[in-house]
Amino acid sequence: MIFSAGAYRNTKSLGDIMSFSSTIKDELARLQNDKQCCRWAEFAGLLRTGLTLRKLHNKKSLLFITEHASVSRLLYAHTKEITYRAPEISGEKNARLKKHVVYRLNFRKGFETDKGKQFLDSIGIHVGLAEDRLEYSNLVLSSQCCIRAYLRGVFLASGSIINPDKSYHLEMAFMDKGIAEETILLMESFQLKPKRITRKGYEVVYMKEGQDIVDFLNVIGAHNALMEMENIRILKEMRNQVNRIVNCETANLEKIVNASVKQVETIKQLDEVMGIENLPVGLKEIARLRLENPEASMSELGKMLRPVLGKSGVNHRLRKLEKLLKERMNGEIQ
Ligand SMILES: [Zn+2]
Repeated sequence: MIFSAGAYRNTKSLGDIMSFSSTIKDELARLQNDKQCCRWAEFAGLLRTGLTLRKLHNKKSLLFITEHASVSRLLYAHTKEITYRAPEISGEKNARLKKHVVYRLNFRKGFETDKGKQFLDSIGIHVGLAEDRLEYSNLVLSSQCCIRAYLRGVFLASGSIINPDKSYHLEMAFMDKGIAEETILLMESFQLKPKRITRKGYEVVYMKEGQDIVDFLNVIGAHNALMEMENIRILKEMRNQVNRIVNCETANLEKIVNASVKQVETIKQLDEVMGIENLPVGLKEIARLRLENPEASMSELGKMLRPVLGKSGVNHRLRKLEKLLKERMNGEIQ
């Protein structure tokens, strides 16, 4: 089974993540980096986050594994531009999800040339002495355009986002702690405040606030995805408001019904002990109306009276009925 940083998931359903993540990555991978400095920075972000050193057919190989065709196409183009040697690409079925293809890019040829090694050096990637792991030195990114491009590369290599229709969660998973820390610093330079946890050996940098995620998408240039997410946020907000109103109305209705049940009970008992006919005119009227309209609110009952009576007037009469019943019951006991 092959795991790349980007392919690593924990508890979230893979289907949810794949759809929105794929949309964003397709958009980002198609962005035109007009400046050479930004193409370099994006490539650096991709490789520093996603490049791994693995044994393949008994040979140490520099590999990049991704579930996204658009990301592998972008890497292919970048590598050719820098080293003139394209990576070898092979696709294989994801062991967990049979339908998904995982792309494996092998940079053996490209980065073993002097030009390739020089390039890796320039973006702070060094093959360790024992050649069993990659080591990283600090990377200096001087202009904002390049920091944006670098973060875009990092997200393309390791990022995932849950469909915002469900909940808000964006994360990037790193194999190297230093690269995770560096990413946080770069994000903070844009006033973003990501959080960090260690999960199953990965350093995970994440954000859970809708606004933070929108701001980050803006920084890395995912403007279509940003608009889509804003639309979903507005719809969600509207839905919540409607739900709040409905819940409120339901609660009111329940209150009315509960009060009415009690009032009807009182009136029926009064009828038994003294007869509704024998009540004073005002009370007789309200008792009849209540029996005939058990679902009406007190102000609705008041409007049925001639002359019309306010809510508090109706309440007063209904309480009087209760009081009368109590007096009658007590009188009978004595
Ligand atoms: Zn730049």
